[in-house]
Amino acid sequence: MRKLLIAGNWKMNGSQSMALALCRDLVSGVAPLTGIDVLICPPFTLLHRVSEAVSSSIIATGAQDIDEHEKGAFTGQVSADMVRDAGGSHTILGHSERRVLYGENDERIAAKVHAALSRGLIPIVCVGESREQREGGHTDEVVLGQLDPVIGQCGIGAFSKGIIAYEPVWAIGTGLTATPDQAQEVHSLIRRRLADHDADIAARCRILYGGSMKPDNAAELLDQLDIDGGLIGGASLNEDDFLAICRAAADRAVPKSG
Ligand code: PEP
Repeated sequence: MRKLLIAGNWKMNGSQSMALALCRDLVSGVAPLTGIDVLICPPFTLLHRVSEAVSSSIIATGAQDIDEHEKGAFTGQVSADMVRDAGGSHTILGHSERRVLYGENDERIAAKVHAALSRGLIPIVCVGESREQREGGHTDEVVLGQLDPVIGQCGIGAFSKGIIAYEPVWAIGTGLTATPDQAQEVHSLIRRRLADHDADIAARCRILYGGSMKPDNAAELLDQLDIDGGLIGGASLNEDDFLAICRAAADRAVPKSG
């Protein structure tokens, strides 16, 4: 049975005052909700403050990226240990903006997944096709082509802790959303690929949908068999929208046991 995860990606947005006000609202808003996990991934500069602000709640925090190295002469980069030191427990990796704007390839993303896991951070590995790739009928090969290198380099065990986010690039920040059927089809493809390696891990791994998830489409997406939560960009910056998505998830999650 599943416990849905709603994760917010603030991208390069936010200030100390905005973050604290938003966290205050989120902490009280999620307090009555059960059966879900909630994560927010602010920019590095806000991670420590945000981690403290949500520490009394079910909300965990994470980074939007890490460097694959442990430490050293990598000006501008932030390591897994630094994220943990700032209070983070997760990190998004391989977001399409990192792949496209910063040229991160599958091998580097897999190295980051390895670094995250070996330093005790839970990676959320993003995969997804562009509009051209979907229209050309290449969705499956693109998504599996991004997933396989992580399994190859890190082993299927990476997904006993790791999370996957299916984020069709054409749906990120565009207001376009995959239909529930389109999303379910890819989520099921991902789960089947995991199951080729380890059925147990496949059954337990959380696969999130990301791409313009909003209060008005969250319920039907979260109703899908293989959608175990959402990675939310724009709507995570608005407390009403993010909490509405959290509530939709709580309505669909199993009650916590024990
Ligand atoms: C994202 O940035 O990962 C994302 C899904 O953004 P949005 O929800 O705004 O499409």
